[in-house]
Amino acid sequence: MGHSTNATVLNSPHAATSADIDSDVLDALVIGAGVNGVYQLYKLREEGLNVRSVDAGAGPGGTWHFNRYPGSRFDSDSYIYGYFFSKEIYEGWEWSEHYAGYEEIERYVNYVVDKTDLRQLMTFNTRVESATFDQENNRWEVVTNTGETIRARFVVATLGLLSVPLYPPVPGREKFAGEAYHTGEWPDGVDLKNKRVAVVGVGASGVQVVTAIGKADEVAEMTVFQRTANWCSPLRNRPITPEEQAKLKTSMKELHHSSSNSFAGFLSYDLEALPPWQEHTPEQRRAHFEKIWALQGFAKFYANYSEFRTSPELNDEFCGFIADTIRERVKDPETAETLIPKDHRFGEKRPPFEDGYYEVFNKDNVALVDLLKTPMVEITERGIKTTEQEFEFDVIIFATGFDAITGPYNQIDIRAGDTTLKEAWEHGLLTNHGIQTPGFPNLLFGYGPHSPGGNVPRCAEPQIHFVTELLVKALREDHARLETTSEAAEAWTQEVADRIAGTVFENAKDWRSGANVPGAKTVAYRFFAGGLDTYIAKLNKIREADYEGFEFS
Ligand code: NAP
Repeated sequence: MGHSTNATVLNSPHAATSADIDSDVLDALVIGAGVNGVYQLYKLREEGLNVRSVDAGAGPGGTWHFNRYPGSRFDSDSYIYGYFFSKEIYEGWEWSEHYAGYEEIERYVNYVVDKTDLRQLMTFNTRVESATFDQENNRWEVVTNTGETIRARFVVATLGLLSVPLYPPVPGREKFAGEAYHTGEWPDGVDLKNKRVAVVGVGASGVQVVTAIGKADEVAEMTVFQRTANWCSPLRNRPITPEEQAKLKTSMKELHHSSSNSFAGFLSYDLEALPPWQEHTPEQRRAHFEKIWALQGFAKFYANYSEFRTSPELNDEFCGFIADTIRERVKDPETAETLIPKDHRFGEKRPPFEDGYYEVFNKDNVALVDLLKTPMVEITERGIKTTEQEFEFDVIIFATGFDAITGPYNQIDIRAGDTTLKEAWEHGLLTNHGIQTPGFPNLLFGYGPHSPGGNVPRCAEPQIHFVTELLVKALREDHARLETTSEAAEAWTQEVADRIAGTVFENAKDWRSGANVPGAKTVAYRFFAGGLDTYIAKLNKIREADYEGFEFS
């Protein structure tokens, strides 16, 4: 190890120095400087490792650096998304809204990077192109697009879930003469004033961008191209009041504790315990739906009858309730019906959150095109052509999602021996607790596939701690290799499959299963659906058994 300290102070005097950075072989390289990558770098630096990170962006923030589209914001509560590792950092920051926008989030990540003095260990504008395991010397050789080769004993990939944009596989995108942007690669300085704008896609990003554009009321016209309608629910964002702010200041421990010991990294809701759903009358159920509908954010998920996940009948009833709210809000009955999903239940696609989405369709200069009736066939020089007509636009916004979860790994040529990670995962993912995959020694994931799903930083935190412990153990005990056993990875992968079986998420028709990627070879839910609390308990068991399933040699 470059250092052997347990320093836990901010701006650690024991932090790696530039001499360490220049030294030939790092203890660890962290790929990615999103919210998880920053925390992983911090933890490893605090353990005294000689570590650095690289990121393709011009600064830290990952998702919040790249998704700069109008309306981009949290749908996890700001104060349980942020970091909890330092009282000084926690108390030194005030979120302005319950669900902060991307500019504020990006500012926050930069604030943390500066407070922890991590920037000196981070290299930006640098994309990793390949990572090859040197079997003889037990280290990774990582090559970047800037021509640098970085050697590290361990690599921790904190690549994020949603960073490789997908575009519709119709011909002609390069022909379009206007401006075109993907929500996931949004540049600064886009001016939509008085423009004729198309938005393609109505997932969480599309719903946010459509709402923001509609509310800003600056465009000449907006046409929304929808293939599959979504079950959107109200976010109910609002500024944090001074009273709430004062309470938050003194609640760090409780917030951290309750969100971390929950099913999905969220706070619990102060509601009466629910009986099994059949014990309530339809009227009582309706009253409960109304109650959770009035709450903020993910209450519609986590304060709902838990059986909405397993009972099609209950789920359909909840969908009927949502459909009624859409009919109430959208004036034109035909538009309302188009906006009501007909082909999936609540949760089969990750439901978007909104504040005023449906009302946007009541505006005279907003139109909705149902791509199920008139599919998109081509992008032309002037705009978008469906089977029915050609639409002309100045700007096309692609809110068409991502090659999620595995896409970011597949972009890098990751090789150990004769195999690439892409080949290894082509016919099905295999991981040990989302942390390692067999055949790739000394490669660890900070929130890899098969991790618990939910509020990302809370769900990733226990894994980042565990990865840190594994590396510290390997380095302190001077092990050259750390690798999951195949048995442990097979057992975890089976558990991931078992936990989702029989739920509506099993049929996830979106990025969570890879179903959104045309021609995807394997479609299966890629999160551990057994709950964050269960996941933490499982990591604790592995610790107690001296890291059973992970081999040090
Ligand atoms: P997404 O959920 O994958 O949605 C993509 C949209 O584009 C869908 O409506 C999809 O339609 C449509 N689409 C894709 N290909 C198309 C094609 N060829 N023609 C027409 N339409 C097409 O992607 P996203 O909206 O970027 O969201 C991804 C995830 O990011 C979310 O689920 C969420 O977890 C996260 N996110 C979070 C926030 C937040 O925290 N506030 C905000 C934004 C995103 P189909 O459904 O028919 O495929």
